[in-house]
Amino acid sequence: MTESKAFGSNCIGANDQTVVGRFAPSPSGRIHAGNILAYLCAWLVAQLQGGRVVLRIEDLDSERSKSAYAEALMRDLERLGLTWDEGPYYQQNRDEVYAAAFDSLSERGLTYPCFCTRADLHAASAPHAGERFVYPGTCRSLSEEARKELLSVKPAAWRLLTRDCDIAFTDELQGPVSMNLASDCGDFVIRRFDGSFAYQLAVVVDDAEQGVTSVVRGYDLLDSSPQQRYLQDLLGLPHVEYAHVPLVVAPDGRRLSKRNRDAELESLLGRFGTPEGVIGHISYLAGLIPYDETIAPDELLCELTYSKFVESLQGKKQIVFS
Ligand code: GLU
Repeated sequence: MTESKAFGSNCIGANDQTVVGRFAPSPSGRIHAGNILAYLCAWLVAQLQGGRVVLRIEDLDSERSKSAYAEALMRDLERLGLTWDEGPYYQQNRDEVYAAAFDSLSERGLTYPCFCTRADLHAASAPHAGERFVYPGTCRSLSEEARKELLSVKPAAWRLLTRDCDIAFTDELQGPVSMNLASDCGDFVIRRFDGSFAYQLAVVVDDAEQGVTSVVRGYDLLDSSPQQRYLQDLLGLPHVEYAHVPLVVAPDGRRLSKRNRDAELESLLGRFGTPEGVIGHISYLAGLIPYDETIAPDELLCELTYSKFVESLQGKKQIVFS
């Protein structure tokens, strides 16, 4: 496949104006209040703009992904009234497609093997809580000879060369975002030690192939967006609009996790009685509706416009689950 054919010209929807959103769950656990808010927002953004939604099960990590979780996720989305128009697509068995993107970058000398272990990186600089990890470029300047020698005896991850320039865009909810990948992130991994392709690469390739124009997801992924934009540019793929929605956190300020069983859908259903009760409570916490009332996603569409939606969530980074 040539580069332009593989990455760009055959993207469904790349040239029309229809908003195509997506749900991109990783099937590694059950759905909880944080995911529900993110999927609800993704759905609203598409529907309020007359668009459609693609479902992609992000099962790239074969060790953590379980098909039972994927099935449960789809059932839960349906139960909540969060419908999709296309998919489910999967990431497993798509190595050939990701490899074509990887090869096109490598052929241009934009990738290099990295032999640093997690322990090496940690010893070099242990980021403090909340700080970004910046790869110091340890393996960037290895000679061709040294690389060959090491590759014959050690597994390598593959990093993408970053440039000292700012990647800037405006997030629909979080406003202007700007990141210098060289100083704020460093060369990042696009292929892992075990040969599998990394999230950043797969997501960019999949979004383009599936015609996604609107990426709505949790605030924790905001920092990934400049990396994804950079990859889109290098691969000649269309940009997408971003909207990073607030994270739902536990009352102690920590991210919701498996420990917070009361934020899982089953507990929420026990507490609020119906899927509409759950949607209503989460919408109320997010400030999308003024009262904690029972409401279905379809009914929310009558309460909101796209600008009202944006206004309600603008600048919010987290919401306390209560
Ligand atoms: N698969 C990721 C998750 O479930 C989302 C990735 C994305 O939206 O780009 O958190």
